[in-house]
Amino acid sequence: MKTLSYSYTEAFAQEMDQNDPLRKFREHFFFPKVNGQEALYFCGNSLGLQPKSVKDYLNKELNNWAEMAVDGHFHGEDAWYHIRKKSKPALAEILGAQEHEVVAMNNLTVNLHLLMVTFYQPTKERYKILIEAGAFPSDQYMLESQVKWHGLDPDTTIIEIKPREGEHTLRTEDIVAEIKRHGKELALVNMAGLQYYSGQLFDMKAITKAAHEVGALAGFDLAHAAGNAPLSLHDWEVDFATWCSYKYLNSGPGNVSGIYIHEKYAERPDLPRFAGWWGHDEAQRFLMEKGFIPMFGADGWQLANSNVLALAAHQASLDIFHKAGIKNLRKKSELLTGYLEFLIREISGESGILEIITPENPSERGCQLSLLIHQGGKAVFDEWYQHGVVGDWRNPNVIRLAPTPLYNSFMDVFRFAKILEQSLNKFA
Ligand SMILES: *Cc1c(COP(=O)(O)O)cnc(C)c1O
Repeated sequence: MKTLSYSYTEAFAQEMDQNDPLRKFREHFFFPKVNGQEALYFCGNSLGLQPKSVKDYLNKELNNWAEMAVDGHFHGEDAWYHIRKKSKPALAEILGAQEHEVVAMNNLTVNLHLLMVTFYQPTKERYKILIEAGAFPSDQYMLESQVKWHGLDPDTTIIEIKPREGEHTLRTEDIVAEIKRHGKELALVNMAGLQYYSGQLFDMKAITKAAHEVGALAGFDLAHAAGNAPLSLHDWEVDFATWCSYKYLNSGPGNVSGIYIHEKYAERPDLPRFAGWWGHDEAQRFLMEKGFIPMFGADGWQLANSNVLALAAHQASLDIFHKAGIKNLRKKSELLTGYLEFLIREISGESGILEIITPENPSERGCQLSLLIHQGGKAVFDEWYQHGVVGDWRNPNVIRLAPTPLYNSFMDVFRFAKILEQSLNKFA
């Protein structure tokens, strides 16, 4: 990245936009307004913008429902009975998985619990779970309650790994060493793929390999990684993963999650799981007979009827991702986040007011930058908001900004820099 010379001029930002093959994708989204003006929206890590096509996708299903009612399950070009298949190609591309390894279903925390049923089988000897310290609260509560439900003590069962003194992010070598240290006692590594607070993208390949070497499994919460960072879950041999679709995947507030389960578990009816009729062999589902026979692959973990309206909104966004191409998005993402990083350093450099805690190396991050603010606190952030900057604030003093390659431009980043410069003059 250092070879490209960025510049803090409007002309440079405009030229970058002109040369951006993805620039037109911005027009596929609605931008919110702040104080009557179109926002500088850097909050796709929290809630992605609405694709303009969502209404059409929803209307199509509303019409199918109106016109066909129950027959919609088996008739029409996208019969609801098979609707889960529709999102698989795009999800497989985004997750770096085979199509039968992924399925959209439920919500994220629900899926975390369901995956634990299968992949966390503690024994007297092997029972520990490794997670990064400061994990997203839902993941912490999920683990705590799972561990207690197994009759174990969270304090001795859940191993939290912290950055070294004076550092903000974890070193892969330290994670690997911790995995080795717990060795035969370690049942599971269950971390974020990309840490929501620091923006650090973990080396999931190395972590999975280390877990497997001690006989443990590795699963990741990809809430901040799906649609943001390059993923090759299948090749990395990650055992399982889940994510949500409302952050980078732009599918609407609280919308459907998805799971990935490595192909080596595709035909393992013996694995413990909580079952429902939608995970049952679909050829025999309507025989309504006793005896659960799981479907092949991730589909065998489904519980319930596909949520057709939720999937329709999800599909609107996935189709845009497919058109843009996940590799193209990543290429732009590195440039765009690199530009934001450059401008923040240019402007706040000497002052020491802002400290970027997200790793500098593009292969250790997605699009988000997390900034520690050492002066002015939330007032600075609020001031930005008054000028239309939508980012997000996390206590005690972190601002997260996520320029997303699908709908943010280099000019967005440049405009933010101008606002940043003004506010630092005021608060410094
Ligand atoms: C956003 C997020 C969640 C939220 O979970 P829901 O079940 O969708 O409410 C959980 N974990 C992580 C790591 C997240 O980033």
